[in-house]
Amino acid sequence: MSILRPEEISSIIKSELENFKTHLKTESIGTVIQVGDAIARVYGLDDVMAGEVIEFPNNVLGMAVNLEEDSVGVIIFGKDNPDRDIKEGDTVKRTGKIVQVPVGEALKGRVVNALGTPIDGKGPILTDRYRPVEFIAPDVVSRQPINRPLQTGIKAIDAMIPIGRGQRELIIGDRQTGKTAVAIDTIINQKGKDVYCIYVAIGQKISSIVAVVETLKKNGAMDYTTVVSASSRTAASSQYLAPYSGCAMGEELMYKGKDVLIVYDDLSKHAQAYRQLSLLLRRPPGREAYPGDVFYLHSRLLERSAKLSDPLGAGSLTALPIIETQGGDITSYIPTNVISITDGQIYLESDLFYSGVRPAINVGLSVSRVGGKAQVKAMRKVAGKLRLDLAQYRELVTFLQFGSELDKSTQDQLTRGERVVEALKQGQYVPLEVAQQVIFISAAVNGYLDDLPASEIKRFETEFFQFMAQKYPQVAKVIDETGDLAGDNADLLKKAVEEFKAGFKRQ
Ligand code: ATP
Ligand code: MG
Repeated sequence: MSILRPEEISSIIKSELENFKTHLKTESIGTVIQVGDAIARVYGLDDVMAGEVIEFPNNVLGMAVNLEEDSVGVIIFGKDNPDRDIKEGDTVKRTGKIVQVPVGEALKGRVVNALGTPIDGKGPILTDRYRPVEFIAPDVVSRQPINRPLQTGIKAIDAMIPIGRGQRELIIGDRQTGKTAVAIDTIINQKGKDVYCIYVAIGQKISSIVAVVETLKKNGAMDYTTVVSASSRTAASSQYLAPYSGCAMGEELMYKGKDVLIVYDDLSKHAQAYRQLSLLLRRPPGREAYPGDVFYLHSRLLERSAKLSDPLGAGSLTALPIIETQGGDITSYIPTNVISITDGQIYLESDLFYSGVRPAINVGLSVSRVGGKAQVKAMRKVAGKLRLDLAQYRELVTFLQFGSELDKSTQDQLTRGERVVEALKQGQYVPLEVAQQVIFISAAVNGYLDDLPASEIKRFETEFFQFMAQKYPQVAKVIDETGDLAGDNADLLKKAVEEFKAGFKRQ
């Protein structure tokens, strides 16, 4: 064994020093330095992109969200505790791809998770189209004003809070006030109307999601609907991602010129999931509420809804986000944020719900800022009268609590109000065509129902529609063709009501 002499050692060091070049080494693999609560802190992924897919051992996937100087925060996807199989020291890989989901017609009728992987046991999704989950919203010149209605099939909404294709209308209310019911009925009503639907369930109980899918199937609505499910059992990361994934699926079709309806049920739970992630990622607090960018969380999602301009194919993405309030308080942070982002809100109230007014819409606090322009003419005509009748009725009811004497005209207003409130009640899963809505609401606001007992109006409605379909189908036909109810047709309706009333058996 030869022994190195000191001068040899120093020459080696010298040559090493001369040849030493500093260069940045980019790494496409990293090491987990900390893991827990579906979040991993990873060392070494120097040039990773924000939103890039990260591969953990055992095919677990994550998304890089926090790019810090010496480490990267990664949210991990999966059910329950997706980080169960990941240990400190595990090697992770970059994929070079931003998180994307499968899109296109192949998703029709499917139930998928936040990453677009099917969870309905019906085999893989056969599509070669993918879209990034995050995408820049169309700019002003790419859009056009709302000009076509999106019928919910719910009388009170289509008449007084009309929604247009491409609009964002918030459904807001306390728990168990029928928020999901409004959204599901709207999806069911799109049958045969060439509107593709996406229902995104965020933080809901698995049993509720299963019930929604069953309802959609039973009503033949799964044929044109995709369900994106991030149940309460999934990690916060999945619940955070799901609405963006659903939106990407909708965007694909919108940019192909189609009309799409997307329901986000609900964004309160989405905000909670995001808050949890932000805390775990140790993001700094904002100015008022935490996390500081929760406005951006929902605005960048909802801004992606649009009615595209004609050169871009005139497709649309209508959004119905849902927000759950506590104790009817719509003035807290998340509700006010989303109210300010959307084009109006449908406010559902517990008191109304329990007093039997269902859907429990508080007409005074509900508004649609853009949909009126797209409303059918006949409906616009009756809607003004309807709002007035209801407002006068509400005022009178409050007044009556003081037990004052009623004169004839006040008594008449009261009678009318009661009939109108009854006429607007509607059960679940029975959306009505526009012509039917126009016929019945006209009958109510024109006083044709005033001499019926309020308790009989529901039965009257069902039987009257049957009668009209058999004996006077032309009334609905003309409304459909002209979009109006006027002249002879209006007279015919009046005659039909009188005729039917004469034979209507009171119970
Ligand atoms: P949650 O806060 O739990 O999500 P929600 O506000 O989404 O509740 P729904 O689940 O839609 O409310 O409805 C609550 C209950 O009221 C359900 O049992 C539903 O069947 C019933 N319901 C909703 N709308 C109507 C209606 N128009 N007529 C009769 N029952 C209704
Ligand atoms: Mg619900």
